Amino acid sequence: MNLDVNTLFMVTIYVEAVLGLLLLFAWAQNTQIYAVAWWGVAHLIRAASIVLFGMYGTVPDLISIDFANALLFTAFAVTWTGARVFDGRPVEPVYLVTGAVLWLLVCRLPVLSDAIDTRAMIASAIITSYTWLTAYEFWRGRSEQLVSRWPAIFMLFAHGALFLLRTPLVTLLPWASSDIYGSVWLTVLSFEALLFTISIAFILLAMAKERTELRHRTAAMIDPLTGIANRRAFLHEAGMMAKRHSANPRPTAVLLVDLDHFKSINDRFGHALGDSVLEIFTDAAQKSIRATDLIGRLGGEEFAAVLYDTTPDKAYAASERIRETFARMAQDVGGRPVCATVSIGLVHCEQAVLDIPELLAQADQALYFAKENGRNRVEVASLDMILQRKDRADASPAPQMSARSAQSVA
Ligand code: GH3
Ligand code: MG
Ligand code: MG
Repeated sequence: MNLDVNTLFMVTIYVEAVLGLLLLFAWAQNTQIYAVAWWGVAHLIRAASIVLFGMYGTVPDLISIDFANALLFTAFAVTWTGARVFDGRPVEPVYLVTGAVLWLLVCRLPVLSDAIDTRAMIASAIITSYTWLTAYEFWRGRSEQLVSRWPAIFMLFAHGALFLLRTPLVTLLPWASSDIYGSVWLTVLSFEALLFTISIAFILLAMAKERTELRHRTAAMIDPLTGIANRRAFLHEAGMMAKRHSANPRPTAVLLVDLDHFKSINDRFGHALGDSVLEIFTDAAQKSIRATDLIGRLGGEEFAAVLYDTTPDKAYAASERIRETFARMAQDVGGRPVCATVSIGLVHCEQAVLDIPELLAQADQALYFAKENGRNRVEVASLDMILQRKDRADASPAPQMSARSAQSVA
């Protein structure tokens, strides 16, 4: 197959420019992800560099080779900077221009002015460095679950590897020839660059889109004040957990927590301080349970937790830890003697398949007793408790209790 380099140049300039404008247009529609603008500018700079390359022979080499390459390296540096910005890392202005400056200095060295192969190798090394740095930035941010991160890493790695591969191969297939447009390398690299630029632009766009969707999804599942799962997310996660372990469930505990006299805390110290108390509780609870345990804010000043694979003793100890840690942390809030406490209802379930709504209902009954027995305490749900509650409910329905039950049990 014969590929005419001139045609490839024309197509690449057009494609780079269109993709650059497309990325800038996408950024204008959602300006929150600045990286998209960086990537758009990178494509436009690359288009400009190829225009200069294409002028080879008609303008001085200083423009069509030296400046053209300097622009090309800047385009790769801008893409790398975009990757840093994408993951919240600062722009590095010095490294942004290092490749271009290094290249222009190299071009000025008299000893290298005619060593085309050496210069080609230096150019390859600069491109590989920036592309692999970009891949590395995306890899560093892999804790954010974006599927499109992986094709981006792969593409960048492969692109960098191709340029690096040119270094040993250049001895077999020298770059220099009387007709530079006849160079096999130029054809191969121009063609690969075209495919790379199209793929990477769409992958980067997909990454930005995926992040926006992920953020919307997360916002709908996270309680904005405390940053933990909201009621919907908690019940969903707990249900998923029960389903995942349905074949071989391990002993599990469910806790229902309600802050004591929270209304009076709001009344005495103000709603803003009440909010701080809710945040302090979240902190205390997270410090007292394992990172793998599930915790959520069911609403108002009511929280729930699922401790999977735990013994009754350990679950009780964790509940006490929550209660004590919170009481200690909420004694003094912003210099005010708040002395907030919590009551906790605990239920432990042995081997049976987890029925989270049922366990929450039982924990709610234990919580009711914790409140009745003086607050600032942990009560464990027992069969006696359930029967006692049922008798009371049959005799005279307790309005306060049924209201809370309805509120806290899905
Ligand atoms: P008990 O010990 O029986 O649980 O009494 P309580 O005062 O804690 O319970 P009650 O249900 O009477 O009051 C709950 C209060 O929680 C009322 C409401 O104003 C407050 N509250 C609910 N959500 C928030 C919130 O996001 N921030 C603040 N500051 N207060 C909230
Ligand atoms: Mg309540
Ligand atoms: Mg309360």
